[in-house]
Amino acid sequence: MPSSFGKFALTCCLLVPLPLSAWWETGHRTVARIAAAYLTPATRARVALILDVPNTPDAVADALAKASTWADENRVQTRTGAWHYIDIPLQDTRFDMPSRCKDDNCAPARIRLFAAQLASKSPDYRWSNLDALRYVVHFVGDIHQPLHAISDADHGGNCERLDPLIGKARNLHALWDGELVNALDLGDKALATELEKRIQDLGPDRQAELAEGTLDDWVWESHELAIADVYQKLQIPTEPVEFPASCNDAPLAISELRLRIGTGYIGSMKPVVRDQLMKAGLRLARLLNETFGS
Ligand SMILES: [Zn+2]
Repeated sequence: MPSSFGKFALTCCLLVPLPLSAWWETGHRTVARIAAAYLTPATRARVALILDVPNTPDAVADALAKASTWADENRVQTRTGAWHYIDIPLQDTRFDMPSRCKDDNCAPARIRLFAAQLASKSPDYRWSNLDALRYVVHFVGDIHQPLHAISDADHGGNCERLDPLIGKARNLHALWDGELVNALDLGDKALATELEKRIQDLGPDRQAELAEGTLDDWVWESHELAIADVYQKLQIPTEPVEFPASCNDAPLAISELRLRIGTGYIGSMKPVVRDQLMKAGLRLARLLNETFGS
């Protein structure tokens, strides 16, 4: 019965949970849209060419937003999960950062490598320029999610469970990945428009200031933000420097924690999330403009 099969297929697929991804989709798409608004004409032309879309502001913004989540969609098959974050223990100083990225298997190293590939205009043997662009867009978004730049023997907050759940978020990392962005209550297009307005109101000097810094500065800023606004505010105990294979092997003080997150915390984090999305968008635009030499 084609009609009932069709009905079944629809029901079955609606029930399949969506994959969890950093900043889920809304955050990444918002960052990409903000960045698209600040590309120079020459960079926009290069980006349009790589994404194979017409060189108009709307077409490039839509395509870049769509491209921004590709890295999460294929990370299991490509075994590139470690490229989405950098595990920096709470006890580290900034000088320890390089030692936390073995064999370039971390977000900042991959941004550097893929940006270099795009700058040289020659495709890599494994990754096309389209892939490189999609990775850069995604990973710049990821490093602005504070829990992608910290470790408390807890997989960046994945091991601390929430009780009760917040929306779909079962753990602290998922709260920051998705539900805090969802709490802003706008789709990516409307959220990007709102944040672009805020950026305009800041004026050119402050805009330039927000876009400043090196990749390591941005990562370290996220790391410090995670310490102050996540680990300290939620009074999560500091655990020894170790990287358990899974949450089952995490210290009991982490795995037995049940965090009760109030609406007060969510409300107080909204400005932080907005700032991180704005900074990520402006910085991604700067990085792409510099990468394409325009
Ligand atoms: Zn990611």
